[in-house]
Amino acid sequence: MNASQFREAAHAAIEEIIQYYETLPSRPVLSTVTPGYLRPLLPSGPPQTGEAWPAIQADIERVIMPGLTHWQSPKFMAFYPASSTFPGMLGELYSAAFTAPAFNWLCSPAVTELETVVLDWVAQLLGLPECYLSKGEGGGVIQGSASEAIVTVMVAARERFVMRRFAEMEEGEEKERKMGEMRARLVALGSEHAHSSTQKAANIAGTRHRPVPAPKDTGFSMTGAALRKTIKECKSQGLEPFYLTATLGTTATCAIDDFEGIAEVIKDYPDIWVHVDAAYAGAALVCPEYQHLTKHFDKFDSFNFNMHKWLLTNFDASCLYIKHRKSLTSALSITPSYLRTPFSDTGLVTDYRDWQIPLGRRFRALKIWFVLRSYGIEGLQSHIRRHVQLGELFHSLLLTRPDLFVVLTGPAFALTVLAVRPKGWTKDGRRPSVTRADRPDPAHEAYLNDFTADAEARYKADSNAATQAVYERVNGSGELFLTSGI
Ligand code: PLP
Repeated sequence: MNASQFREAAHAAIEEIIQYYETLPSRPVLSTVTPGYLRPLLPSGPPQTGEAWPAIQADIERVIMPGLTHWQSPKFMAFYPASSTFPGMLGELYSAAFTAPAFNWLCSPAVTELETVVLDWVAQLLGLPECYLSKGEGGGVIQGSASEAIVTVMVAARERFVMRRFAEMEEGEEKERKMGEMRARLVALGSEHAHSSTQKAANIAGTRHRPVPAPKDTGFSMTGAALRKTIKECKSQGLEPFYLTATLGTTATCAIDDFEGIAEVIKDYPDIWVHVDAAYAGAALVCPEYQHLTKHFDKFDSFNFNMHKWLLTNFDASCLYIKHRKSLTSALSITPSYLRTPFSDTGLVTDYRDWQIPLGRRFRALKIWFVLRSYGIEGLQSHIRRHVQLGELFHSLLLTRPDLFVVLTGPAFALTVLAVRPKGWTKDGRRPSVTRADRPDPAHEAYLNDFTADAEARYKADSNAATQAVYERVNGSGELFLTSGI
């Protein structure tokens, strides 16, 4: 494709993308294809000679469109939002044009320096404590995903923990052996409702994982007391907790862990690295009314949130902040001669390869910069507030039909978790409304008068079945897409 063909193709592609966005509200949100739909639509191998763009573009409609789930559709209410905006897309376009796996500052100084500046902007926008800004010992880096951020900080936490324990010991085989033994006893912690990426990160980092209970009566939030109990249990088994994920907005219910309680416990265990995972809900911190939530973050070690979830930036843009960037670079920096540069040696530049798992990296700061400039602080705030208001409206509508719905949690940020009220149960206290004729078994009187564990289990089973049926019917229509937590 030469430049003039590119011009023509790009115009045609952008026209099609604009039309796609214009017609999104009228498209069914869910794809109805069956598994394996795509292979029969394509030849058995790539073409022998190159094809013209119009032929390639035509296959977007024929091959790709039928198998798309439209995450940008206003009818998409499943999982979590995955923002896409025109400024974000333009950032991706330029990033592709300037493609440079800019692992060291020298590889493309603008890639590194824009990232440092926009991440400082974003930290200020969220009201993060100053310790996460690059002017001190901290700073931010763009990762591909929250999961990637978590595994990265977990490795840094592991190395910091082990290094501290053996700081005084002379280098050599004995130290290596002892450090190996210590690594085998390490445990990563997270609330039972922390995202599964914490457990996955522990698998990758080669440590154990223990969930901290966060039951319904604490609103599914991990408390300091529960954390302390789990730490003590681990220690009594000869294990060493070295890392904790605290969550701002858990995946299932958007619960917020008890940061104050956690900060208090951590005073007694200063070697445990606390990471705050705010993958989805962190975006709400752009509104001052949520910024009190960051009050204790200066006592923690790292924080991440995904601009690509709820802050108008195309995937991928997960912002990770570290209080002491040295902890990250000590664990991840390995510099063979071919990666050395005179600038790196001066220590005056940032080489982001030392802040992440891969070597190469994309120019992701561009799209964040474009989004921040196109929407401004006010635009981002009104985007979040509008979603929160829609969540509140949805919740208030549910409350008008207590005969049909039970609100399980929320509204929290823009998430409300609901169940369908099963037939045969009254609205108050989940007491069964069955009559003797309905349920003529000898234990019936006790069953009616007592809200026993048995009754609760039956209620739950009935409620799950009713909720599942409604959920399947809604998603089956293809018109709306919801996520089930059953
Ligand atoms: N953390 C939380 C709280 C999440 O809700 C999610 C996704 O649902 C993740 C982490 C994983 O995000 P990513 O896809 O960026 O790895």
